[in-house]
Amino acid sequence: MTGKAKPKKHTAKELAAKLDAATTNRGGGKAGLADRTGKEKGGHAKLECPLCKVTAPDIKSMQIHHDARHPKIPFDDTKLNNLHSTAPAAAAETSKPKPGVRGSLKK
Ligand SMILES: [Zn+2]
Repeated sequence: MTGKAKPKKHTAKELAAKLDAATTNRGGGKAGLADRTGKEKGGHAKLECPLCKVTAPDIKSMQIHHDARHPKIPFDDTKLNNLHSTAPAAAAETSKPKPGVRGSLKK
């Protein structure tokens, strides 16, 4: 299994992790701090920014994020995505054992 630069298949989990890495603010400053403390505290975040998909454990953290990242857009908590409302489905999906599919995954 060496050589040959074959494009890797990306699982949903990998993509989600990449998306998270790309969109989560891990920098310094207030917004970054809110994001980080939120992650540690909440385990899984409750709210998701509809604009950039950053997550926050509560409305206050989200507002801090919003003010920092989207200062030109009015903060509207009704537009936030509540991840807890979809949590059971997501949890079921990630806990499901992955079949060892080696063949094609064509859509
Ligand atoms: Zn955002």
